[in-house]
Amino acid sequence: MAVKKVALACSVCGSRNYMVAKKPTRVERLEVKKFCKFCGQHTLHKETM
Ligand SMILES: [Zn+2]
Repeated sequence: MAVKKVALACSVCGSRNYMVAKKPTRVERLEVKKFCKFCGQHTLHKETM
C-alpha cells in the first residue's frame, strides 16, 4: 500500500512549501494554515494535484 504524497502550495505566492502524506480514504482537499518563508507570514496552503 503506497501512501500518496501531496504538496501543499501557498495560496498567496503559489510556492510549494510542504510535502505531506495523504491517506487514500481522505478525499477532500487539504487546506492548512502554515508559515510561508517567501511571504514571511502564515498563509493558507492548499493541496496540489
Ligand atoms: Zn507564500
